[in-house]
Amino acid sequence: MDEILLDPEHSRGPLSAAAGGAARFRIPSWQDIQAGLRSLSHHDLWERRSPLDPLIYVVAALSVASAAVLGSLYGPSYEVSVDGVELGLVQSRQSVEAAIDRVEARAGSILGHSYTLEQDVSYQFALSQREERIPVTQVETYLFDQIGEVMKTSVLTVNGELIGAADDPAALDELLASIKAPYVNANTISAEFVQPVVVSKEYTSTSALKDVESMRAALTANSMERVDYTVQAGETFSGIANSHGMLMSELQALNPGVDVNRLMVGQTLTLSQAVPFLSVQTVDALTYDGPVPFTVEEVPDSSMYQGDTKILTAGVDGLATYSANVTYLNGVEQSRVINSTSVLAQPVPQVVAVGTKERPRTMATGNLKWPIYGRITSGYGYRSIFGSYSFHTGLDITGSYGAPIAASDGGRVIYAGTGSGSYWSYGKYVVIDHENGIQTIYAHCSSLNVKAGDRVYQGQTIARVGSTGRSTGNHCHFQVKVNGTTVNPYNYLP
Ligand SMILES: [Zn+2]
Repeated sequence: MDEILLDPEHSRGPLSAAAGGAARFRIPSWQDIQAGLRSLSHHDLWERRSPLDPLIYVVAALSVASAAVLGSLYGPSYEVSVDGVELGLVQSRQSVEAAIDRVEARAGSILGHSYTLEQDVSYQFALSQREERIPVTQVETYLFDQIGEVMKTSVLTVNGELIGAADDPAALDELLASIKAPYVNANTISAEFVQPVVVSKEYTSTSALKDVESMRAALTANSMERVDYTVQAGETFSGIANSHGMLMSELQALNPGVDVNRLMVGQTLTLSQAVPFLSVQTVDALTYDGPVPFTVEEVPDSSMYQGDTKILTAGVDGLATYSANVTYLNGVEQSRVINSTSVLAQPVPQVVAVGTKERPRTMATGNLKWPIYGRITSGYGYRSIFGSYSFHTGLDITGSYGAPIAASDGGRVIYAGTGSGSYWSYGKYVVIDHENGIQTIYAHCSSLNVKAGDRVYQGQTIARVGSTGRSTGNHCHFQVKVNGTTVNPYNYLP
């Protein structure tokens, strides 16, 4: 509602209002000028322009310029001497004293203790031209070079850690090259240190000077590091320990929860591996002949059972010339990138018939299962029983009287009855032929659920636990024969 603010008559500021609107456009009189000078700070820019102004500017500019010219020719300065040696002219003593402080601080940090320059620094006043003077950094460098405990050397650092210093940088370069050398051959296209390695000219304490052999010892020293290892098919605990230069007890100590007798493929073990302080990664460009793996083609076959396969055409690997870049870490291959392949002989694909016919339940799966679950009171092998030393042909598994005994796999019952003659000791027992070379026997039963000629499936109850025949308690004597020979059932059970 404040319409006054919008009125142009009232919109002028206080400065322009004081001068009056029309006065701004007439030639100013002397009185005007004097009044203007008196209230200079109250005038706006336009009104301060009077006829006298150019002259004032010229005089002022000339005096500033002449002062600058004279000042640049000669000025106060000091001749600096260190222990009587004249270094040159500097502009101020303070700048030299600040340089001394910096030198002492830097020397102190290099040496690890506070340091005071012993040199006698003196100053002689002199007028000099600017270009005659030396930069104070020149004084600083001179003072630094006077410190006997600190010297400019070639310093070797690995991963930021000081390894040592040498007077001759070539000695360090040779040392580094000799550490790479064992991993370099005619095919090597690059050899690099894994850790950042820096050789630089630096001021260091003279105590950092080391002979090359002690630096080599530090760089090639091994540290034992823990690494993960994945168990491959066919490997044993002792084999893994052996191939990694470890004792069984060491490997066991690193893997307390691992059953050394039951390693599984794909299981992860912790190994201890020697890793050099400075690692070398090399890349070799290799050309070599190698196999081209054959492919496998599957052909469905309705005359064969599911899970059964038959090779119709055996695959044959081809041959190719490969060109590859192989990356090694301390000589151990890490990765292989094949850049080109030139096939010399094409592989022959393997053709495999794969059964699609539904498998009857009473057919063997090929994998035995436990007939009952219980405590093993007698294992397979020689034992002393009933006062004589004899061979035990199976596993004795305890069970409560009447507990069901399951067929270990599918197959055909070839015997179910009470043992007589030399088989008297079996009591009531069952023999299943799994028709794959394997037979299983279940003895000392209290009752039998099957008869000879029956087909049974895996897991089917074929008998019940008892203590018939030569037995001192309820259990199942479980026996496995492979091609007519009794074997340790343990090796066929999960
Ligand atoms: Zn037995």
